[in-house]
Amino acid sequence: MNADELPTLRDELQAHGLWANKGLGQHFLLDLNITRRIAKTAGDLTGSRVIEVGPGPGGLTRALLEAGAHVVAIEKDARFIPLLEPLIEWSAGRLRIVQGDALEADEEALLQEQWSEGGRAAIISNLPYNVGTPLLVKWLKAGPWRGDMILMFQKEVAQRIVAKPGSDAYGRLAVLAQARCTARLEFTVGPRAFTPPPKIASAIVRLTDRADPYPHLDALERVTAAAFGQRRKMLRSALRSLTPEAEALLAAAELRPTARAEEIDQAGFRRLAEAWRARS
Ligand code: SAM
Repeated sequence: MNADELPTLRDELQAHGLWANKGLGQHFLLDLNITRRIAKTAGDLTGSRVIEVGPGPGGLTRALLEAGAHVVAIEKDARFIPLLEPLIEWSAGRLRIVQGDALEADEEALLQEQWSEGGRAAIISNLPYNVGTPLLVKWLKAGPWRGDMILMFQKEVAQRIVAKPGSDAYGRLAVLAQARCTARLEFTVGPRAFTPPPKIASAIVRLTDRADPYPHLDALERVTAAAFGQRRKMLRSALRSLTPEAEALLAAAELRPTARAEEIDQAGFRRLAEAWRARS
């Protein structure tokens, strides 16, 4: 099965009179070499389950199906459904298209409807910029149905996800993502690879579940919001938005009250979240 035998994406868009809707973060990858490269990053996809958010005209969907995956694709923009439907027959039924908002989607229920027995699904997507971060946070909190994530973000967001303590990019997103996953920036893609081109570069991040995930992401969200909300301040001041007893909280977490949020590593934030949980 070779996606080159399909009509080109550009021809398909033209034939259906479709154009990008910027409000929905639509920047399309029409070059199969790039979508194949993204699919390849996931490893051998033969027979595997994949959730794709925002298939749009279907460039990445084609590459995923060509690589042998079974795909549940969630697209908000109904205009693209007629363009995606021929891929169902082409893939001998390995594609299910769901029209709706991925932020509201119950992925676990969709997977159960599709395949009655369990099994994890990878999430592989070129994400809409405007909802990339909330989708990632939603998936970080997901249950055991979720497997690895291969996701395209704006490069600057990708750098924030993989950032290490001490760097400017290090913040809430790095702490939350790395509480559940190891995160690696795989490669960057320049604006000209997209139609229409966005203003800035994009990058693919691979997120793989870590062996010792931190379970209480809500607590971590609270403490990181306070700590990085005023990132230039010492923690004893920054954490006052969380509790008037910031110094006691820091002592319980064995953190220096004069430290700043960007100095605190994953283990430190875990202790802080645990100290917060014990007090609230
Ligand atoms: N995967 C396609 C590609 O690589 O060419 C399109 C990627 S484009 C960056 C993002 C896609 O996400 C668009 O098709 C857009 O309509 C869709 N989208 C935007 N917001 C969405 C949402 N909340 N739920 C599902 N799809 C959404």
